[in-house]
This record gives sequence, structure tokens and C-alpha cells, in this order.
Amino acid sequence: MNVMTKAPTVYPIFVPTKMSLHTFNFYLVEINHRLLLIDAGIDTDKCWNIFQDVLLENNFTIEDIDAIILTHHHEDHIGLVNRIREVKEVPLYAHEKGVKRLKRDEDFLEKRIALFADIFTEMGCGVEAEQEIARLKQAKIDNASQTILGDIIPIRGGETLFGFDIIETPGHATDHIMLYHQPSQVAFIGDQFIKHATTNALIDLDSNRKRTLSLVIYEASLRDLLQYPMTIAYSGHGEVIEEPEEVIQFHLKRIERKSDKVLHLLREETTIAALAKEMYGKKYDTLFTLVMSDLVGHIDRLEKLEKVTKRKEQGIFYYKRVDK
Ligand SMILES: [Zn+2]
Repeated sequence: MNVMTKAPTVYPIFVPTKMSLHTFNFYLVEINHRLLLIDAGIDTDKCWNIFQDVLLENNFTIEDIDAIILTHHHEDHIGLVNRIREVKEVPLYAHEKGVKRLKRDEDFLEKRIALFADIFTEMGCGVEAEQEIARLKQAKIDNASQTILGDIIPIRGGETLFGFDIIETPGHATDHIMLYHQPSQVAFIGDQFIKHATTNALIDLDSNRKRTLSLVIYEASLRDLLQYPMTIAYSGHGEVIEEPEEVIQFHLKRIERKSDKVLHLLREETTIAALAKEMYGKKYDTLFTLVMSDLVGHIDRLEKLEKVTKRKEQGIFYYKRVDK
């Protein structure tokens, strides 16, 4: 077998968590005589120790790592980058849209929080929005230590890196990518899909500082992936996926079913916040961002399908079902 077509050798690092995600996964990958690290776990001693164990068991050291590639900027995928680069200055590759996030650019984060305040107002959130904005402001201070130090090499969809095609898969995060090894049909999918759980299409902003249609974009990315045959998909959480197409189809159906449920609840004209309270009860408070992301995502989707329309009154959007 030609060296370029040989499937990469994968050494998974699975870090168990009590969270519903089950595990934080990242991968040491040997390909064409290079050793890559795809994602970098979470910044805890437990994660660091498990990483060290996997290196040791396979006769590697940090010195052997040639590059780190991130599937997206979320904290549970970048955790050990700084620790690793204290030992060796390993080149770090990330999608260009993730760079400001990884650098925790002050101006970028400030403006982002201000825009989130506007978005929550439009959704009809009151006190909960104020609490969430206060939480985001506090997180900006608390998470300063997560800033990625050193250079980040920006990458884009359509490029290839160490034999992998970089495929943009936005939705869960705007900078989300999949790494696809076409000859062996092996994919590193980050959080694009997870076997046992639904990937959240989180509220986000595009480069024009407008709210993105995260779920619509996510669903399109997921559907797009069906054109890449996969023998195995290495996911950011939970099990390695041996039947990727089935899992993709399952999640696509799940999105449709959930939209139907939301549409059903939309009996009379209402705001997203009111609908969230009705649908989620207490979770509206405790899981505010996730609940709002989920609901606004389905409303966007239904609007796109022309099943829902909206009007704006005094800065708040009111949605209603289109009865045909
Ligand atoms: Zn994740």
C-alpha cells in the first residue's frame, strides 16, 4: 500500500467526565511519518495525566509531536495546548475564524457580549438576559487564563494539511472543521456529531456581527457530510463512530422531529423567551444559553421553511405559525 493512502494510526485519548458528554476525546495521529495531535482536551490535571499515560504506553514523548490541529475553539478541545507548548513549541493550526477567540481578543469579546445583550432583548428575555450578560462578563475575566499563548497558524476549508482535507462544518461553532483523510475515508469530526448526544448549534455571531442561523447552518453542514463516505468517525465526545452515515441520518431526523414539536407549541403569537419557559420550565434559568440556542435555532429553521413568521414591536420579536 502506498504510504499516502495508508490509513492514519490513531491513539485515542479518552478522558471520562460525569457530564452528559461522557468523555472528552482527543487523538494522537500518526500519518506519513508525522505525529499530530488533533484537539487537546480540557485543562485539568486528570486530562494531562491521561494524556501522559497514552504517550508513554505508545513510546512517545511530547517532543515527538509535530503539530496540533484544533477542530474548534471550545475550551474542552484546547485545554492542554499551553501546557504542551511549554514543553515543546509545537506548531498550532486552527481555523482562521477561531483565532480571535483563542487569543481571547479583548475588543472582540467586549463587542460580542454587547451584541448578545441585544439578541436576548429581541428574544423577549428580561431578568434572565441580564443575569446571562453578567455571567458572560464574569466569564471573560475568569477565562483569561485560557488564552492560547504563542503563534496560531490560520487554516481554511479546501486546504489540505498533513494529508487531511480541511472541511468547514460550521454550526456548533463558526470555526468548526472536520479533518478528512480521503484515501482511507477516516474522519476527525470534533463535535460535528456525537453518537449518544445531540450537538448544540449555539447562538453565535458572524463576521458582520449579526446573529448566525446556527441550527440552519449546522443542519446544512451535517447534510453536506453525507457526500464524504466515512469508514470511521473520531468524535470529540463519547464513542468512536463506526457507522457515521447512520448517526448523521439519525441526527437529521431528530432535528426535524424537534422542529415539529416547537411548531406544535406555537399555538399563538409569542416571544422566544415565553416559548422557552413553556417548553423547558426550570431549565430556562439553569441552562439559559443552551435552551435559547436550541429554541431560536428551531424557530429560525421554521421561518426558513416558511412555517413561521415574525414581527418586531418595541425591539422584541413576536413569532407566529403560518396557517395554510
Ligand atoms: Zn466539545
